[in-house]
Amino acid sequence: MIPLAVPSLNGRELDYLEECISTGYVSSVGPFVARFERAVADAAGARGGVATSAGTTGLHAALTAVGVGRDDLVILPTFTFIGSANAISHCGATPWLMDVTTCSWTLHPEQVQVALERDCVRRGNAVVHVPTGRRVAAIMPVHVLGCPADMDPMIACARRWGLPVVVDGAAALGAVYKGRPVGALGADLTVFSFNGNKTVTCGGGGAVVGDNERLVALVRHLTTTARCGVDYDHDVVGFNYRMTNLQAAVGCAQLEQLASFIAAKQAIQQHYADAFNDIAAVMPFPTPAYGRSACWFAGVILREGLDAQALRASLRERGIDARPFWKPIHLQKPYAAAPRADLVVAESIWRRIVTLPCSVGLTREEQEHVVAAIRQAVA
Ligand SMILES: *Cc1c(COP(=O)(O)O)cnc(C)c1O
Repeated sequence: MIPLAVPSLNGRELDYLEECISTGYVSSVGPFVARFERAVADAAGARGGVATSAGTTGLHAALTAVGVGRDDLVILPTFTFIGSANAISHCGATPWLMDVTTCSWTLHPEQVQVALERDCVRRGNAVVHVPTGRRVAAIMPVHVLGCPADMDPMIACARRWGLPVVVDGAAALGAVYKGRPVGALGADLTVFSFNGNKTVTCGGGGAVVGDNERLVALVRHLTTTARCGVDYDHDVVGFNYRMTNLQAAVGCAQLEQLASFIAAKQAIQQHYADAFNDIAAVMPFPTPAYGRSACWFAGVILREGLDAQALRASLRERGIDARPFWKPIHLQKPYAAAPRADLVVAESIWRRIVTLPCSVGLTREEQEHVVAAIRQAVA
């Protein structure tokens, strides 16, 4: 079976892990953690960063840091991984679900603006969602599949309403928006995941980056049990969300290869796009003019009416790991009652997506095999 996405661990991962073991530094106080935080912040174009145990825990800490709490609403695109919504729920808040654009599959800035104007009023410093009586506490754009969300209009809208922006950039390290890296787009905090299936992995892990040093320090404080000084004093209910030195060691070795990993991923996506150029029913993932995706997963989207499930099954029979992609949040049981806007684009795309093998180490022959199998299946 040609796998969907497996990590590439051919750099200095083993050397750095040996260093952890031989020095005895395996916990979160080890030196690779600070080195990893610096490297992630630099790669993202942000002033500072905090490594976390996962992307989801990083999101939870980031949302908490910007003040999201019990009974709040957080604006979230429905087309995302459930971890984004769960981080909101872990704060005691609820996602207010919005649609995505057809050109990027990311949060629709105009729809957000219209929904805020139609459904919300300001009460003092708070933005209140009139139909539920809840406070809107933040906006969480998602860089879907590593493709940056359209951040300039989103940030402008957030500033007009005085709302903080926490970005779920889980798989987008290495992406570019209008010439800028994704940690430099004006959000309060941006969160990455280094889970095993992401382009850059620590096995598991995450990071929260930002330019506001007070906010980044608050995330650090919250993720380390909110401990004050060396005695056992803790000033708020914090989390144990730190990354270990072992994870960071792998992450440091991975980040040394970031540029080549991203280039490989982009080349794979481009090759699939070119290969089906002449087949109208098999379309590439969107590539918005404003930026460059990190191309976490590659794949295709089928024309309405074609059976993506059948195509995936036929590819799997030929030894090709082809899979569906995220089922939108509003169709998930825990979020059946979450408030929402019209979600027609997400409804239309999710069933038609087929993700295809796209490991950094995918060979040309393997990719040609995938292409040939799809051409045969849709002929
Ligand atoms: C991978 C991913 C996450 C979850 O990250 P974990 O490290 O697995 O917790 C969250 N959101 C998005 C958009 C992702 O792609």
